[in-house]
Amino acid sequence: MEFSEKLLGWWDQHGRKDLPWQQPRTAYRVWVAEIMLQQTQVKTVIPYFKRFIGRFPDIRSLAVSSADDVLAHWSGLGYYARARNLLKTAKICAERHDGQLPQTPEALVALPGIGESTANAIYSQAFGQAAVVLDGNVKRVLARYFAIEGWPGKSSIHKQLWKVAGELLPEKRGDDYTQAIMDLGATLCTRTKPDCARCPVNESCQAFGTGRVSEFPAPRPGLKVRKKSFRMLILTDGNGNVLLERRPPAGIWGGLWSLPSDDDGRPVHERLGLDSESFEPLATLRHKLTHISMTIQPLIGHAHMPAGGVECTSDQRWFNRHEWPALGLPRPVRHLLETYLEKDEK
Ligand code: SF4
Repeated sequence: MEFSEKLLGWWDQHGRKDLPWQQPRTAYRVWVAEIMLQQTQVKTVIPYFKRFIGRFPDIRSLAVSSADDVLAHWSGLGYYARARNLLKTAKICAERHDGQLPQTPEALVALPGIGESTANAIYSQAFGQAAVVLDGNVKRVLARYFAIEGWPGKSSIHKQLWKVAGELLPEKRGDDYTQAIMDLGATLCTRTKPDCARCPVNESCQAFGTGRVSEFPAPRPGLKVRKKSFRMLILTDGNGNVLLERRPPAGIWGGLWSLPSDDDGRPVHERLGLDSESFEPLATLRHKLTHISMTIQPLIGHAHMPAGGVECTSDQRWFNRHEWPALGLPRPVRHLLETYLEKDEK
């Protein structure tokens, strides 16, 4: 039996058919889910997806929303460029495509934030077409199944994976097959502890057959994780308002509201015209991004701060406790506010 037949047989019995973006399966919902799933696991995505769709039920409602509103509904998912591109694409679709996603991979890939694999995933899942999909899960399955050496992010390895993915694509039920191979990677052929005993293609899997499953896919060579230490100020005005600053559009946490910090190298107290002596240090916080390992020293200063405190620019604002929970905030910032401001009020 062929790879695709075995896989489809397994998927018919065990595949996931009731994920929130599958019921109902509209192009808009599939697109939002595919973008959320680009760097995030299904179980993490589900509550975010429901909340996002509840707030922005279709392209037109998304297209007329503010970046702040969209980022607030993305807050905690990370890789915020995805949310900004989602908004840009919604505006383009509203203006040029009558509020719909275009229906060809070529037109989809021309939109912000949609690469070749994502375009094909949307084409396949939303429009019921057969198309090669090569997301992280599929790459892992294929790298193991064919024992393909080398880091999948390298162009030559990517091309090799794309080629075998195309060769495996069946003539019939291409859309189900695409969902099936993604499901296999997400549920059995997982990054850690793959469940090869229950895998429908284990008999012909080269990595499994040679006892080398843990060697595939090869990790990214020489990924350097940069260490970064900086301070963050929790500055309140004595009335429960906290000072937040909007991050520059590019770079880490681009466009999100954040606590004032000196991660750009400019001493934060000096920049805000504050006396560093009047701040109390809190427990150090560690936070990891793909390339950066952060050590954050939070400092709190309140009550004795003058009302209004700092004079604000357009990218600075005092937010009250009913406002900041709804903002797009980086995860460590939300954690600090929830830990120290909410506790403060009890
Ligand atoms: S046998 Fe194991 S490694 Fe091979 S495809 Fe199946 S789950 Fe993945």
